[in-house]
Amino acid sequence: MQTIINQIKRNRSFFLASHTHPDGDAIGSLLALGLALKAMGKDVQLFNPSHIPAVYRFLPSVHMIEQRLDPDAQFDVALILDCGDIDRIGGDAKTVCQKSLVINIDHHVTNTRFGDLQIIDVNACATAEIIYHLIQHLPVGIDCAIATAIYTGILTDTGSFRFSNTNRTAFAICERMISMGADPYQVAQHVYGTYSLGRIKLLNLALDSLEISPNGKLSVMTMSQRMLRETGTQAEDIDGIINYARRIEDVKVAALIHELPANGSMPKGESQFHVSLRSDGGVDVAHIAAHYGGGGHSGAAGFSTKANLNELKKELMDLSEAFSDTCEVT
Ligand code: 5GP
Ligand code: MN
Repeated sequence: MQTIINQIKRNRSFFLASHTHPDGDAIGSLLALGLALKAMGKDVQLFNPSHIPAVYRFLPSVHMIEQRLDPDAQFDVALILDCGDIDRIGGDAKTVCQKSLVINIDHHVTNTRFGDLQIIDVNACATAEIIYHLIQHLPVGIDCAIATAIYTGILTDTGSFRFSNTNRTAFAICERMISMGADPYQVAQHVYGTYSLGRIKLLNLALDSLEISPNGKLSVMTMSQRMLRETGTQAEDIDGIINYARRIEDVKVAALIHELPANGSMPKGESQFHVSLRSDGGVDVAHIAAHYGGGGHSGAAGFSTKANLNELKKELMDLSEAFSDTCEVT
């Protein structure tokens, strides 16, 4: 931590990036640290390769996050936030990183420890928790915008204080953030309060797609590009739907298979998929995701793969044979 503080104090220009298809923690962490560095008079560029989901566009200064990047841009330091793997920031951002001191700040158990310096705290409930501690060491106060960003990161990554990563620190920091101006009701209204009609229709299709493994321990939802088109929704509208599959009685692991837009030529019968995995705590899904080249946390992880849909489902169903009531899959 101290080495990183010194590097931040000593350097002038900073590139900050977080993972593709950002969630509340990826966006909140980016904004909180970006605003803190800006308040210190640093030159900052905030970047995310995906567009910012509508539910997070209320965050103060969210317009600072850019989706385009000049790969020739030069920065003293690149701060990569909430990414278990540097590939998750996209190719242009990786190119920028090659010319900077790279600092990796994350809480994923599968973090590859990329970069020159790291703060990886797998016990942190969110990257926003680590960012909060970091800002405490910087000569800058926490204003309402930073407080709202940190609060949103912790709220969303703990599933509103319900997931197993919810700890005392989560509540303690959020209490402080509220005293510094974060408004829990406003944040909840934006993040969870309203759904487009299309999203409700998408939820209907997702529930309809549910399949359960013969032993009842795995639930699988499938979302196709056609479903998104038919309901006028976007990938960001899928966020949270997997929780319905996870809550089913006796289910140990829920999988949501999301067909990604076609890009380039694919072998006949194959598509590109992102698979989200959630566990009830008994099965380590980070381990399963890592096996497929992805990663995450023991209770929430994901991976992308090119596959035939039926074969992918069968593979997951076969894996579920090993889910026991008490043991982790090894
Ligand atoms: P989801 O799959 O629901 O988007 O993400 C669940 C968790 O797994 C998040 O913490 C996310 O950062 C992580 N995750 C999802 N996909 C990948 C991936 O392809 N690689 C890595 N390293 N982590 C992932
Ligand atoms: Mn996170």
